[in-house]
Amino acid sequence: IWRGALGEYTTHPERFPPNVVIRYTEHTVLIRDTFPKATVHLLLLPRSEEHSLRHPTAALSEDPEFLEIVKREADEAVRLAAAELERKVGSFSAANKARYEAMARGDPPDSWPRGRDWTKDVRVGTHAHPSMAHLHVHIISRDMHSEKMKHRKHYNSFNTPFFVPLGEYPLAEDDVRRDTGFQNGNLMAELRCWRCGREFGNRFAELKRHLEEEFEAWRAE
Ligand code: 5GP
Ligand code: ZN
Repeated sequence: IWRGALGEYTTHPERFPPNVVIRYTEHTVLIRDTFPKATVHLLLLPRSEEHSLRHPTAALSEDPEFLEIVKREADEAVRLAAAELERKVGSFSAANKARYEAMARGDPPDSWPRGRDWTKDVRVGTHAHPSMAHLHVHIISRDMHSEKMKHRKHYNSFNTPFFVPLGEYPLAEDDVRRDTGFQNGNLMAELRCWRCGREFGNRFAELKRHLEEEFEAWRAE
């Protein structure tokens, strides 16, 4: 994988099919991650040349106006990701079933149960040390259920402080998450289930089997 491969999406979003470039504005491009680490995994790329090749910590911590734009467009991306999540796994959800059943019975609409809010299962943030050069924000569903999720670093990069939620920017000057040593430690840390907290040490294959069960339970909520 070439470090610069995300650049063309920001300069020429119109060259890509709609399933790859989901939407673009003057400020950002929303794309599908080619190697999704969860059921829904999108990337929001700011287009500004001035910001795009800077480190996310610098770009998102030092320019409040830019951060505001990225946060606003990320909110919209979360809504799209949640809708996609609902299309993919929504029919398994107990909360959604209760709503559909009330509709089917012909109950008055104001008595329908709310159904599940899938935006709560979508996380937004950057990696402390990205592998790709162009600034990108991950919009990723909580589940970590994907065949492309293949090793410890993949998992830990989304489930330790290596993943920096967009809402926590700007980072303070002395925020420990800026520290390379601390972040390398996070990537190599012992594996831990995001849902129940069970520890898996370095047993990735065992964690994968467990995530399979957690996926079933999670989507049935
Ligand atoms: P990082 O670790 O840099 O925060 O994440 C980079 C992301 O870009 C990864 O999730 C990876 O799967 C994704 N990726 C790598 N190359 C490409 C590409 O050419 N196109 C798209 N859409 N995603 C890519
Ligand atoms: Zn678990």
